[in-house]
Amino acid sequence: MPPLGLYIHVPFCSAICRYCNFNRGLFDEGLRQRYVEAVTAEIRGAPGRFGWRPGEARADTVFFGGGTPSLLEIADVAAIVGACREAFDVASGSEITLEANPESATSPFLEGLRAAGVNRLSLGVQSFRREELRRLGRIHDVAQARRAVAAARQAGFDNLSLDLMMWLPDQTVRQWLASVDAAMKLGPEHLSLYMLELYPNAPLREEMARAHWSLAPDDDAAEMYETAMARLDAAGFDQYEISNVARPGRASRHNLKYWTDGEWIGFGPGAHSTLAGSRWKNVSGTDEYVARVAAATPLETERRDLTAEERWQEAVITGLRLRAGISVVAMAESYGVDLDARFGPDLQRFQEAGVVERDGDRLRLTRRGMLLANEVLRVFI
Ligand code: SF4
Repeated sequence: MPPLGLYIHVPFCSAICRYCNFNRGLFDEGLRQRYVEAVTAEIRGAPGRFGWRPGEARADTVFFGGGTPSLLEIADVAAIVGACREAFDVASGSEITLEANPESATSPFLEGLRAAGVNRLSLGVQSFRREELRRLGRIHDVAQARRAVAAARQAGFDNLSLDLMMWLPDQTVRQWLASVDAAMKLGPEHLSLYMLELYPNAPLREEMARAHWSLAPDDDAAEMYETAMARLDAAGFDQYEISNVARPGRASRHNLKYWTDGEWIGFGPGAHSTLAGSRWKNVSGTDEYVARVAAATPLETERRDLTAEERWQEAVITGLRLRAGISVVAMAESYGVDLDARFGPDLQRFQEAGVVERDGDRLRLTRRGMLLANEVLRVFI
């Protein structure tokens, strides 16, 4: 069995950003303590639940996501990493990532993280413009983001990722590119560039209407994406996925499991898992999660055994998110699906439109195709 990924969902934030649709709530000190007890118990209980001996199943990535994992205490992070090491054979050289927001990424905290075994930091910078951060409802400022990067380096993090968001309210192409340049200047090993997506009732929608902020036209959004990626190419980054670029050898090993048909177990409220052809999700509410762990009642909701059809669809859809694309021969061997026979006319049409390209056996999205990924990938469902 290839090594697993372990995902730890930390469901707290200091403030709720105006666009956020993740599973999170406002920080509460008492709930933090109960959450840490529950999540460490859930991790320790995993071997028994899956019929393994403690330390039998191998894992090579641990990822603290949220929410805002940097609101945990260092002792909490150490306890959670310790529980992972007790329950799983966490290989030496494993990638252990923690997502942090700049306002909580202080020097003592980052030094403590290193001592607890965290070796990759993902900073939610989002923008290098003060007005944009305010519009999003982020509580950090640009100086804090720069200080967090310097503090991370000083603490010994040599694998640093920065998140940026594009197509923000009233953002111009030039303003966006200035944030990309500012991020590159800080010398991260990895960058994630996301387009803002506004869910139907996002408070930011109302705010945009009130303040008369508009989104740049679609052509500008395309220019934002394509020009940023071209600048990152020129600076020696490798775009390995639709939204992610990295220095050679610094792609996120944990996130690659999601896109390469890997297996992972998620711990904490609302965490998703994929293992042995099944997919499930933990109960979302933190109070309910804590209560269920305490009562030893099942945490799972929405368990599904993936059908053969769902498995190949998923392999195609996630694989095409990667710049490397997919091997048509490997798809036929692993899933018995001949993509050319089944989707020949669609693939031909996409190639003619310049959104898909063929390189021998490999099929991949072009950069333009990555921009239109939702439309292209729909054909496989
Ligand atoms: S910090 Fe992240 S998880 Fe928390 S509210 Fe903002 S976007 Fe959502």
